Amino acid sequence: MTSLEPDLADLAHCSFCGKPASEIAKMVAGPGVYICNECVDLAGSIVAEALGTPSGPARPVWGAMSDEEMLGHIPRVASHIDQAEADLRSWVQELRRRGVTWIRIGEALGITRQSAWERFSGEE
Ligand SMILES: [Zn+2]
Repeated sequence: MTSLEPDLADLAHCSFCGKPASEIAKMVAGPGVYICNECVDLAGSIVAEALGTPSGPARPVWGAMSDEEMLGHIPRVASHIDQAEADLRSWVQELRRRGVTWIRIGEALGITRQSAWERFSGEE
């Protein structure tokens, strides 16, 4: 995990709560995901609670949410797909800049060279 570059901070939304980086104190980046300091605190308390109870629920947040709240949240979940896709694209672009072949990129992703090229090259 790394701290965000300033230019990435403008694009990033927390993968957990959906807040943009501009609205939170600190964002941490993982591979294709981001987490804000508030969600780190929440996750820490969930882990602490789960460790104290042998069968801690995996998704405690659902139990506390109404249908309307869940419906309001799913667009944020969907937006993470776009964010992850954009992040993956930037990793592939860096690999290409380093001269790594489409064959190796495809192998790493479990897809063919052709599929990797079609998905990431931006060429027709
Ligand atoms: Zn968050």
